Amino acid sequence: MNIRNYTIKELETILSDFELEKYRTKQLFIWLHKNVIGDIDKATNLSKRLRNTLKEKYDFSLPKIYKEYKSKIDDTKKYLILLNDGNIIESVLMKYSFGYSICISSQVGCNMGCSFCASTIGGMKRNLETYELLAQIYLIQQINNVKVSNIVIMGSGEPLLNFDNIVKFLNIINDENGQNIGMRNITLSTCGIVPKIEELKKLELPINLALSLHAPNDDIRKKIMPIANKYKLKDIFYAIEKYFECTNRRVTFEYCLIKDINDGKNNALELVKLLKNSFDSHVDYNVNLIPVNVVKENNYKRPSNDDIMEFKNVLDAHNIITTIRRELGKDISGSCGQLRASELI
Ligand code: SAH
Repeated sequence: MNIRNYTIKELETILSDFELEKYRTKQLFIWLHKNVIGDIDKATNLSKRLRNTLKEKYDFSLPKIYKEYKSKIDDTKKYLILLNDGNIIESVLMKYSFGYSICISSQVGCNMGCSFCASTIGGMKRNLETYELLAQIYLIQQINNVKVSNIVIMGSGEPLLNFDNIVKFLNIINDENGQNIGMRNITLSTCGIVPKIEELKKLELPINLALSLHAPNDDIRKKIMPIANKYKLKDIFYAIEKYFECTNRRVTFEYCLIKDINDGKNNALELVKLLKNSFDSHVDYNVNLIPVNVVKENNYKRPSNDDIMEFKNVLDAHNIITTIRRELGKDISGSCGQLRASELI
C-alpha cells in the first residue's frame, strides 16, 4: 500500500501502534504531502525505528513525469505521467490571470463511452489510487516550481465512479498540513451519476460541481452519451438541486457544442426552457459552452464562431449566465476531451 493513500486520520491510526506523541503524525503528513519527499529517510525528525518499520510496510514511491508538451499558442503544458504499473495518464497545467490550475485525470481511461471524447476510446483500465490523484498535482508543481490555486477534476475518467479515492484526495489536498488548497477552488465534473451526486452531497464538501449536460433533452443526450440511458435529466437535476441547497455553490452546466448535433438555435431555446423549468430561481447556475475539440477517431465538427455566438446570445437574452470555454492547449491535444490513457510498452 502506498503511504500517500492515507488521510491524516488514517495515519494517526497507523502510528498508534508506536505509542508516539500526537504531533508525530502531523510531522509525517507534512513530509509526505507538503514537502513531498520520495525517501522517508529525509524525514530526520522521525526516529530511525519508525522510519524503518514504515519502509518495510509501505510504499513511498511516486509516479514519474514521462513527457512534457508545451503549447506554442498559450502557456498550457500537458504532462504524461507514468504510473508504477506502466500505465500512462495525462494531466494539464493552465495559467490564468488568477494563478495556475491543474486538470487531473481520475481513472486510467474511461468507460462512459461519450461519442465525442477521446478519453473513452480504449475503455477504462482501472481507478486511480489516492496517491496517483495527488501525484499529478505534486509532480507538476515540482517540475514548474509553482503552487497551483485551482484544481479541476476534468481529465480522463468519471470521478464519481472512483468515489472513495476522490473523497480522500479532496481531504488530503485540502489539509492545512499539506497543500492546503481550498475546496472552493476545486471543481469536479461528472456525466451525472445520480446516486453518487447524492452521496457526495451528504459529505457537505464545498467543492464546485459541473455537470456534462451537452444536450437540451434526453433523446439527444442518449445519442451522444450512453449514460443518459441510465439516468434521466429530471433525476439528475433533482439531485443537483439538492446538492446546491446543501453546498450553496454555483453549479456549472457544461455544454459541448457539436455542429448539427446540438448547436442549433432551436436547441438553445430548448435548453433555456429546460433550465428555467427545472430550477427555481434560488438555484445559482451557469452554462459553460465548449466548442467541441477535435478527436481524430470521430467526425464531429466544431460549429462556426457565428453559430457559437448565436447560441450564446439566446441564453444571454434569457438571463442565463453563459461563458465560452477557452480552448487552452489545443495544439498539444490538451483541451477538454482530448486526454487519453496509454501504456509504456
Ligand atoms: N467524466 C467527467 C469528467 C471528464 S470530461 C464528465 O463527463 O464530466 C471533462 C469535460 O470535457 C466534460 O464536460 C466532457 O464532456 C468534455 N468533453 C469531452 N470530449 C470533448 C470534446 N471532444 N470537446 C470538448 N469537450 C469535451
